[in-house]
Amino acid sequence: MRRKIVAANWKMNLTHDEVKPYLDSFLTEVGEVTDVQIVFIPSYTSIPALAMALEKSPTPIELGAQNVHWQSSGAFTGEVGAAMLRALQVKYVVIGHSERRQWFGETDELVGKKVVTALHAGLYPLLCVGESLSEREENRVEEVLERQLRKGLGDCPPQDLSSVVIAYEPVWAIGTGRTATAAQAQEAHAFIRSVVASAFGPAAAKSIRVQYGGSVKPEIAQALMSQNDIDGALVGGASLDPVASRKSSETLLKRCAQPARFTEANATKIKL
Ligand code: PEP
Repeated sequence: MRRKIVAANWKMNLTHDEVKPYLDSFLTEVGEVTDVQIVFIPSYTSIPALAMALEKSPTPIELGAQNVHWQSSGAFTGEVGAAMLRALQVKYVVIGHSERRQWFGETDELVGKKVVTALHAGLYPLLCVGESLSEREENRVEEVLERQLRKGLGDCPPQDLSSVVIAYEPVWAIGTGRTATAAQAQEAHAFIRSVVASAFGPAAAKSIRVQYGGSVKPEIAQALMSQNDIDGALVGGASLDPVASRKSSETLLKRCAQPARFTEANATKIKL
């Protein structure tokens, strides 16, 4: 049985002093959630404040980081190593996010190295894969996903695969407001599982968690979460805005976390 995982990628937002008010509001709205794993992924600078705030959280919330360097230490000015993250109680780390691939030139090879480094340090990689719009239009979705997965997981020791979560994030859906349909996402997730099966065997494919990311919205959250191969969500923009849209984003996370309680009627009350 795969435990659902909902991760909030705050991207380059929320200063360290905005973390505690955000968490307090989130907990007031969401209450106790234990059946779903929740991960907050702040900027590096907000990690210590969030780690401290989470110590008293009644709902277990895991800490994540948005990136990690592929070397464990050394002369890499401006970078952060896996051991530094571990020392701050970080458990998960996003690797290969499309914004890193697009704006910082991260290649599949680099992503593969980061996965291994993270695993060696005891971190749980959230490995992002996904096609661009032109790749989808050219019917190259499977080719792209297979390449990203084979390179991203190419050096992953089989015994460590259970620590990896895959995030299917079609690039055309990230930050665009255009969510993949449940059918499109399910098709991609099933394909991802088939690639994992051919590389690591059917048991590994059955147990690995694959979450969907890309403009997750309440209107479609339940449909996405109820698909056979979708094990949660990676939520970006909608997990933000602690002031104006605070209730909305918190409610979305709650709905993702507890899909059974999501209804079309209350979806209309949630504005993102
Ligand atoms: C993301 O950044 O991983 C993401 C899914 O962003 P958004 O929800 O804003 O599309």
